[in-house]
Amino acid sequence: MHIGIDLDNTILDATSAHLQYYNIASGLSFTPDDVNDFYLYRLYGWDRAERDAIYSQYGHDIHWNSAPFPMAVEILQQLFEQHLISIITARPLLFLDVTTEWLKYHNINYHTITLIENKLQACVHSKVDVLIDDGPHYAEEFALANKPVILYEQPYNLSVTNEFVYRASNWMEVKQHVDYLACKLNRA
Ligand SMILES: [Mg+2]
Repeated sequence: MHIGIDLDNTILDATSAHLQYYNIASGLSFTPDDVNDFYLYRLYGWDRAERDAIYSQYGHDIHWNSAPFPMAVEILQQLFEQHLISIITARPLLFLDVTTEWLKYHNINYHTITLIENKLQACVHSKVDVLIDDGPHYAEEFALANKPVILYEQPYNLSVTNEFVYRASNWMEVKQHVDYLACKLNRA
């Protein structure tokens, strides 16, 4: 099976790292309990341009200092043995180097990596069978295209439910959904 996998808030805890540096930049002190929006910068009252300026300044540190979720590395190592693994992230190209260095440092193997905002287009083009992601808008777009998503549970995606969404609140559940979908695909 060809599996597309997001990084931020799917493989790793991006919320904590963003809050750490956004708090430094703003002098505010938000915690993960305050986050209920996929676009975390809105918590700080920033507009897109303000966020982009802060992100250019702190993005490298944010991405380098993000921690993998429990069991993510171990399960990704297992999946790499059996499946084609494509990392698909909406991070800008500016952060390609820190991203690949982070993956190497954490012993995460993959076959391809793509930095792109339009994940549906990328997945259709490269024939990805399932996307693992936390983004509510991706889950909805993929459902409209009849493509399954394993939705890594976050406070801002709880309201997304449809027949193509397989919800996972940890990496053991991700693995169970992958195994199920691989079986289903083999039988089809
Ligand atoms: Mg994400």
